Amino acid sequence: MKGDYEAVIGLEIHVQMSTRTKMFCSCPVEFGAPPNQNTCPVCTGMPGVLPVINARAVEYAVKAALALGAKVNLKSVMARKNYFYPDLPKGYQISQYELPLAEGGQVVIETENGEKVIRLVRLHIEEDAGKLIHDEKGESLVDLNRAGTPLMEIVTMPDLSSPQEASAFMREVRKIMRYLGISEGDMEKGHLRCDANVSVRRRGEAQLGTKTEVKNMNSFRFVEKALEYEIRRQVQILEEGGEVVQETRLFDPSTGTTRSMRSKEEAHDYRYFPDPDLIPLVLDKNWVDRIEENLPELPRAKKERYIKELNLPPYDAGVLTETKEIAEFFEKVVAEGVSPKKASNWVMVEVMRIIKEKELNIRHLALSPSSLAKLIRMVEEGKLTGNMAKDVLDVCASTGKDPEEVAQEKGYEVLSDEGELESVVRKIVDEHPDEVQKYLSGKDKIIGWFVGQVMRELKGKADPRKAGELVRRILNEKKGS
Ligand code: ADP
Ligand code: MG
Ligand code: ZN
Repeated sequence: MKGDYEAVIGLEIHVQMSTRTKMFCSCPVEFGAPPNQNTCPVCTGMPGVLPVINARAVEYAVKAALALGAKVNLKSVMARKNYFYPDLPKGYQISQYELPLAEGGQVVIETENGEKVIRLVRLHIEEDAGKLIHDEKGESLVDLNRAGTPLMEIVTMPDLSSPQEASAFMREVRKIMRYLGISEGDMEKGHLRCDANVSVRRRGEAQLGTKTEVKNMNSFRFVEKALEYEIRRQVQILEEGGEVVQETRLFDPSTGTTRSMRSKEEAHDYRYFPDPDLIPLVLDKNWVDRIEENLPELPRAKKERYIKELNLPPYDAGVLTETKEIAEFFEKVVAEGVSPKKASNWVMVEVMRIIKEKELNIRHLALSPSSLAKLIRMVEEGKLTGNMAKDVLDVCASTGKDPEEVAQEKGYEVLSDEGELESVVRKIVDEHPDEVQKYLSGKDKIIGWFVGQVMRELKGKADPRKAGELVRRILNEKKGS
C-alpha cells in the first residue's frame, strides 16, 4: 500500500434467520409475497398491541453464538433503538444494546498467510425494518412484509486487515450459519448484509485511525470493492496532509465509489432504553447446554477430520466441506466402501460438474451416493472405462436409474474376454509394421497410438489400461525376433 499504510477493518453483519414466522408476531417470513400481505397490527406498529418473542429465533441465535465460541448471557435485555424513518412504523426498532444475547467468540478465516483468528465483540438479536420502493413516478411506496423479520447481528473486533479478509470472514460466517441450518444465507434476498468500518494508519502505529462506516452491503464483491475504494480514499487524504472525517458512507455499485451519507455530528442519537413491552430474556442453562451438545460438526472441524483421518489433501477437504450437503454425500459414498480419495475425485469433479450444470442443490440430485459408489466399483473392476462411466453417471444423475442398468441399456460392456482383446491387439500390431518399428527404435509413446487404434476397433468397449498392457507385451515379443 502507498506510503506503507495498513487498513483496519471491523464488520457488523446482519444475518436473517430462517424461521417460519417473524420476530415478535406470527406473520410468515416469506420472500416475494405481494406487498404488505404478511403484516399484522404488531409488525405494522399499531397502538395497543404487544410483541411476543419468537422462541425459535432465540434458539437459532443461541446456536450461532455457541458455534462461534461466544459466551451466552443467560439474561439479556431487548431494547428500543429509536429513529424516524417511513420503513419503521413503530418509530423504533427492537434490538439489544447493553445486555446482548452473547459476547466474545471468534471466527477463523484462511488468508494468504495462513489461518487468522477474528475476534467477535458480540452477537445480538433484533428485528428488520420494512422496505421502501421508489418507483418511476417519483413516488415512494412502503412494503412492511419484511418488517419484523428475525435478524442476528454479529460485531467483530477491528481484526481484519484487507478487503479480501473481510469477504473471507463473511463467507465463513455464511458457511457456519448454513451448517447450523439457521439461515439460508441467500445474498440476493438480503439474508446476509454487512456494515463495514474501516480506518487506515501507518504500519507499526499503535493507535487506530479515524474510521468511516460503509452501510448495508449485500454482496461479497461489493464489500471488497467498497473497502478498496475507502482505503484508497483515506490514504490519499492523509498523504495530502488532511484528516479523515468520521462518518457513515454509502457504496454505489454503479461507480464503485462511496459517498457521504451523514457525518458524526449528524449521527443519530438512538436513545436506547429497555423495551418495557418485553421482559428480560432469561434462558434456562440446561436448555442452552442441550443446544451446545447437539451442535453439528462445523466446517472447520470437518475439514480437519478429512485431512487427518481420511488422508485427503487440504484442497479436497476444503471443497468437500464447502456445504454440509456435499460433505454428507461424500461421506455416504465413503461409507459404501469406496476409498476416500476415489470418492473425493468423483464428487469434486463429476458430481460438482453436474450440479453446476443443472443448477441443482446436491440434495435434489437423482443420483444416490450408493449408485455413485456402485459406478466407481464398476470402473475399478474394469467393467466400465472412465469415459463410459461419465456417460452413465450423467444418465443416472437425471433419471435416478441404477448404473448397471444404464450401462446395459447403452450397450456399455467392456470386453472382459482377454482372448478377444488380445486377438484385436495382435491384428492391429500386424497391420502396422511401420509403427512397430518406431516402438522398437525406442519411441515408447507410440503405445498410446496403438491403444487408440484398439479402442476404435472395439468402439470404446475395452479397458484402456488392459489394452495398454497387452500392446506393450505383444510389442515386446517382437523385440527378440
Ligand atoms: P460505533 O460506536 O461507531 O458503532 P463501535 O466501537 O461500536 O463503533 O464499533 C463498531 C465496529 O467498528 C466494530 O466492528 C469495530 O471493530 C469497528 N471499529 C471500531 N473502531 C475502528 C477503527 N478505528 N477502525 C476500524 N474499525 C473500527
Ligand atoms: Mg456500534
Ligand atoms: Zn405481523
